[in-house]
Amino acid sequence: MKKRNVDLVCDIAELISLAEGGRDRKELLQKVVTSVAMHMHADVCSIYIYDEDEKVLTLRATQGLDNSAIGQVKLRLDEGITGRAVRELRPICVGKASDNAAYKFFPGIHEEDYEAFLAVPILRGLRRIGALVVQAREANYFTPNDVKALRAIAAQLATMIENVQLLSDARAEAVRLTQPAPKKVTADSLIRGRSASTGTARGKAFTLDSAKAAVCALPDPDAAPYTVDDFSMAVEKTVDQIVQLQRQTSEALADVAVLIFSAHLLILEDDQFAGRISRLISEGTDAVKAIAIVVNDYVEVFSKSKMPLIREKVLDVKDLGNRLTRNLLNETADEYDYRGQIIISHELLPSDILKLSAENVEGFIVSSGVTSHNAIISRSLGIPMIAISREQADSIADGEEMLMDAAQGIIYLRPGAEVYRKYQELDNAWKMMHNASDMKEETFTKCGERVHIYANINLLSDVHLAREFKAEGVGLYRSEFPFIVRNDFPTEEEQYIIYKKLVDQMDGRMVTFRTLDIGGDKMLSYYSSVSEANPFLGMRAIRFSLQNKDIFTQQLRAFLRAGADANTRIMFPLVASVDDFIAARDIVYECMRSLDKEGIAYNPDTQLGVMMELPSAVEVVDELAMEADFLSIGSNDLIQYMLAVDRTNEMVSKLYLAHHPAILRAMNRIVSAALTQNKDVSICGDLSADPRMLPFLLGIGLKKFSVDSVNAPNVQRLVSATNLCDAEEIANCMLDLGRISEVEAFLVDRNMAPEIEV
Ligand code: PEP
Ligand code: MG
Repeated sequence: MKKRNVDLVCDIAELISLAEGGRDRKELLQKVVTSVAMHMHADVCSIYIYDEDEKVLTLRATQGLDNSAIGQVKLRLDEGITGRAVRELRPICVGKASDNAAYKFFPGIHEEDYEAFLAVPILRGLRRIGALVVQAREANYFTPNDVKALRAIAAQLATMIENVQLLSDARAEAVRLTQPAPKKVTADSLIRGRSASTGTARGKAFTLDSAKAAVCALPDPDAAPYTVDDFSMAVEKTVDQIVQLQRQTSEALADVAVLIFSAHLLILEDDQFAGRISRLISEGTDAVKAIAIVVNDYVEVFSKSKMPLIREKVLDVKDLGNRLTRNLLNETADEYDYRGQIIISHELLPSDILKLSAENVEGFIVSSGVTSHNAIISRSLGIPMIAISREQADSIADGEEMLMDAAQGIIYLRPGAEVYRKYQELDNAWKMMHNASDMKEETFTKCGERVHIYANINLLSDVHLAREFKAEGVGLYRSEFPFIVRNDFPTEEEQYIIYKKLVDQMDGRMVTFRTLDIGGDKMLSYYSSVSEANPFLGMRAIRFSLQNKDIFTQQLRAFLRAGADANTRIMFPLVASVDDFIAARDIVYECMRSLDKEGIAYNPDTQLGVMMELPSAVEVVDELAMEADFLSIGSNDLIQYMLAVDRTNEMVSKLYLAHHPAILRAMNRIVSAALTQNKDVSICGDLSADPRMLPFLLGIGLKKFSVDSVNAPNVQRLVSATNLCDAEEIANCMLDLGRISEVEAFLVDRNMAPEIEV
């Protein structure tokens, strides 16, 4: 009989490609052995899979041996011809097995009938995956060509078996997740991290790890098994909840929440999702497990996607898994959300934060550094956020009780009564510090100098707080959020509606629009720029706008139009030179001319300013102050770029020092240059609300502070308690100091650097 090895190799390639969709390892391996045996006219073909932990090969599929041996026949690497082939990482072809010393005979599976034996290891590099074995009754049956063919097949099988193995590990993980999580023992009941969004929170830990599905509910072992109908009802309930959530968020967060839950609904409608879960249930799989299996498959596929937009959907799929499971088990009467839970995540997107906030999450613990936008958006939403290391995050068990003191960046695990009492005090103190009830309309120093407090606005929903906290205007509107939480650039018209709402709600008060500040760690997933090796030094902020003039023009036109009959300003982020500013200003003038031509109303008196964020801008601040209408110190970036310390990098966070002498002197230079030119100057970075630094800032002549609204009461209180002469003396002393340690000693001496008490 003629062997057809070429056909065989092609056949197996096809089998493997078909298998990509099927993913049932048992079935696939069986097809492979059947095909090999048929094409090679071998009496037996078997596949053994190697377990690295146990160090054994187990028979997983066979054509020709007794089927009962599958899963039962096990070989160590020092046993039999197969074990030896795998151990020595080479094919072994034996003409007459019964004469071979290494031959291991297994009774009961009818191996004794076969003489010719060819074992080929299945390898990935040097990693042992298993063995492909053929046997024939006729001695000396296999030729060198057969060895080559079998090697080719083994090579193809290796990748496929490995992939299927990974998938089944993921499934096992999903099933494991439906069991109670074993409590991890933590060395300490307190974790110190870095605060990204202040406040206090209390809740149970809930880990969102991209490698596993977040299906967390446990089936009741005594309950009757759930049917396909039960699952269909869970789907209906889930759809209702999501539609309701979308409605609520669209009302509360109109500027950013455009259809943020739409992917949930699309995935639910996909036959490969809900349909496949139903099929698994009708085939006898436990319903909770069926959800976990399909959710895990989706998570795996999505998280490996090359397209960021698809990768971003991982959390949506997990959320769906949770909702479906809870609704199936009827865990809560009405709906499932993240109330009472603190999310621990390696990575969160601004849209995830929005969604989880709509689902009432209590707090966030992030383990891979906090992007500035995540911190900013959490602050806007009033949700505490703490950044910790990956190891610290791994030490927290799911379901563990926690208290977050995000002002200090401290997480208490399994807190006792004493910690709860302290937490209550902290919570009250935090509320008092941010209590706006005794805030005055205008702010004065102790000696009667007028100071202005403005609000930083990130989301339109911040405006009501700004009004409540009596902000005199908006010192910084971060315009990028409507761009970030979308699938595409918003049009001029969409932007106009958002900006106009902001202007209207501020009711005649000044509004400072900042042009788009993306790039760095603030990325747009739909903008397919090549990834940059150093994004903070790359196509960020005004550089992006100048490079993408059409996007810039649409934004500027929307700002100018929203400013008609109002008091509005526009400022440019990350200006590196006078030339940058002039180039941006020229485009504003172009926009004004085109609006004139089209007869569209706008604010022709819009003031144009520079955000002082770069060392190069500080060096040319005199010229910038001459050209611009105003300057605003973006201290968050100024510190980052002057000190070359990534503001999001935990490892260097101790070097991110606002009181570095270079920063103090740079800020002094900026303020002096602006005042010399009689130009308006303000500060809008986080430093503007730092109690330790407030006397210095007042002392160098700053009278305009733009802060997150919650900080306004405290800033007003501190300003009212400060005499300008004292502040000037403090500033002069600090400007004389050349070392960080001297500044620190000075602050401690003046009681302006209270020890952090834990
Ligand atoms: C700053 O850099 O200080 C600033 C206010 O801008 P952002 O934090 O948005 O980068
Ligand atoms: Mg900045």
